[in-house]
Amino acid sequence: MSAIVAIVGRPNVGKSTLFNRLIKRREAIVDAVSGVTRDRHYGKTDWNGKEFSIIDTGGYVVGSDDVFEQEIDKQVELAIEEADAIIFMVDVEAGITGMDEAVAHLLRKSKKPVFLTVNKVDNAMREADAVEFYGLGFQEYYTLSGINGSGTGELLDAIVEVL
Ligand code: GDP
Ligand code: MG
Repeated sequence: MSAIVAIVGRPNVGKSTLFNRLIKRREAIVDAVSGVTRDRHYGKTDWNGKEFSIIDTGGYVVGSDDVFEQEIDKQVELAIEEADAIIFMVDVEAGITGMDEAVAHLLRKSKKPVFLTVNKVDNAMREADAVEFYGLGFQEYYTLSGINGSGTGELLDAIVEVL
């Protein structure tokens, strides 16, 4: 089985945009935990000659904020279990939010490699704004624009090294 890379993060940071940019073909959903995988999309891609699967998490049930956070927590726990590497996506337009901090807290317990990825860095000004994400306590971060594709190569180079 090929390696798995999961994209996690709060809603609206751009997870699906990156997923759609990266995947070459969608995979049928292999349902291990019923009632959960409906919120996960699987796709296949390759980089530097290495093929791997990507999971896009999301499609959260709309409800109270509590349910919302619980659902994100569940997706993050699943990613920690099943993925070989995790893209933790945040949004430079929004800055650090409470939900980002909650996800960061869960991910710090993971022994899997986590790639903090600051999305929506569409221009050089935003590159400077991204430094605030050191506040999440990770050693480094990657910046990218899911919309124009800049930065994705550097991120993928780093990811395939650990797969
Ligand atoms: P998800 O909820 O994390 O899956 O986020 P989506 O991929 O659905 O994107 C949420 C919104 O952010 C959409 O309006 C996207 O067009 C926008 N978005 C995604 N990536 C970028 C980016 O790199 N730059 C900008 N400016 N907007 C983006
Ligand atoms: Mg999405």
